[in-house]
Amino acid sequence: MQQVTAVNRVRYPKMSMSEGLQSSLFFESPEEIFARVFRELKPRTPVPDLRVDFCQFANADSFIRLNDGRLHVRMSDLLSGAPAPVLEALAHILLGKLYRRPIARQYNHRYRLYLNRKDVRRQAQIVRQARGRKFISGPQGEHYNLDQIFERLNAAHFDGLLGRPELGWSRRRARHMLGHFDPAHNAIILSRILDQKTVPEIAVEYVMFHEMLHLRHPVEHNGARRCVHTKEFRADEKQFPRLKEAKEYLKRL
Ligand SMILES: [Zn+2]
Repeated sequence: MQQVTAVNRVRYPKMSMSEGLQSSLFFESPEEIFARVFRELKPRTPVPDLRVDFCQFANADSFIRLNDGRLHVRMSDLLSGAPAPVLEALAHILLGKLYRRPIARQYNHRYRLYLNRKDVRRQAQIVRQARGRKFISGPQGEHYNLDQIFERLNAAHFDGLLGRPELGWSRRRARHMLGHFDPAHNAIILSRILDQKTVPEIAVEYVMFHEMLHLRHPVEHNGARRCVHTKEFRADEKQFPRLKEAKEYLKRL
């Protein structure tokens, strides 16, 4: 919050009180901000047709393109809530790059100050986790097909009612994590170490079954406590036939 006040102090067009009160300058749309900065940079050129879109990027990148005399700005929706002076700074940076004009330091500084704000950084991290690309191999392994295993277990233990998430094999043959459910990508990933003919089917099924229970039993939040394997989860897991045998095998893997 402190930084926002600092940012607001940066030079803004001066105006008298009465002018300021009725001026729409304080409520400029992103397009109006870009048009104003454009006029500042190129006073003799008519402002082109201009469009600003906020997109669901995985990071805070922004792009500007001049196409057929139209300016198209695409920026992360992380910036859709940014204060006007921040968008103004970004307009200076993007238009300055596009027209190869030197960018005043204050604009780079103001923009960076905003991105470095603690709340903005935290939100950027959440967005990156949720939208970042994730490698999902697809269900067909060398030896096992995860779609088939999922549907067999779905029919046997869930009345066929579980929606099938993305299924895939991990890139590495991890031993420490044999499977995980990733709610951000709605994906169940099994370790590739399980995709071998020497691994009995019951072991692969058990790992898949465990991850499927995560679909049925979402993580519970109790104050600051977070419970992943709830009592109900554990009770359901015991329903797995030959549970002991599967666990014994995985221990020796
Ligand atoms: Zn688990």
